[in-house]
Amino acid sequence: MEINQLENKVKNTIKEYQLCSKKDKIIVAISGGKDSTTALYLLKKFGYKVEALIINLMIGKWSKESLRNVKAFCKKHKIKLHIINMRKEFGLSLCHIRSNIQTKEKLNNCLICGVIKRWLLNKKTRELKATKLVTGHNLDDEAETLLMNTIKGNLKMSLTLGPKTGIVKDKKFVERIKPLYFLTNKEIKAYSKQMKFPIHYAACPCSITSLRRDVRKLIKNLEKEEPNAKMNIVENFLKILPRLKRLYKSQKELKYCKICQEPSRNEICKRCQLLKILKQ
Ligand code: AMP
Ligand code: ZN
Repeated sequence: MEINQLENKVKNTIKEYQLCSKKDKIIVAISGGKDSTTALYLLKKFGYKVEALIINLMIGKWSKESLRNVKAFCKKHKIKLHIINMRKEFGLSLCHIRSNIQTKEKLNNCLICGVIKRWLLNKKTRELKATKLVTGHNLDDEAETLLMNTIKGNLKMSLTLGPKTGIVKDKKFVERIKPLYFLTNKEIKAYSKQMKFPIHYAACPCSITSLRRDVRKLIKNLEKEEPNAKMNIVENFLKILPRLKRLYKSQKELKYCKICQEPSRNEICKRCQLLKILKQ
């Protein structure tokens, strides 16, 4: 895909799904990977008010390199960067938190990491008085997650998917948007290489869950028969998503966690449930 074509595709996604406007103060959650770096670059290029936010997860060399790259990128493009330090926030690095929890409960790496990241990103973005939180999720991520949720029989989990997340609006919950929603892994990789962004292409060393790996393989195989498989999975889902959201909206209200007061669907949020296991 040509550079212009890719950029127009992102512009169209923003427009069609009304992801953000020039009035928004936008925070891009940047990991140092190709997706979030591309999202940040494009929003800045399109003239949006953007700042970047990175959580230093403190996963050894990998985190150090990501942080160095992100700092260099933001400096070059004159983007304000906010850094969250895991040790400052939780007193422990993510690796420590994870391995400790895993000695007590069988939870996978990405689940623990995801819960902690989402909690921190929402809280910090709100504290920065931003109105939108951008993540680098792409078409591959979305198709995989949709299939994973379907395989696990958990339709409700997919309610938070789509280019714009959130079923319920809440003053403590910053809307998350995904401008790269219709771009594939391959397209973003080619673009970021062409643009010579300072990024490392290796996956997170904690690796992905085995189900995601299997689903990725499955989709790759399916694409031999049906090259549009990923797009079809996602587009079909988007057709039924508004109805699903209406169906579940009244069933479960967003509350505030009794421990941390952050928005949650349960009495105690997932982050605080994890910390409880940690302290056991
Ligand atoms: P992942 O869950 O690792 O696939 O990441 C999904 C999205 O979350 C990325 O595209 C980023 O926008 C964001 N993200 C992941 N890791 C970090 C991090 N360490 N700091 C800030 N944002 C992150
Ligand atoms: Zn909580």
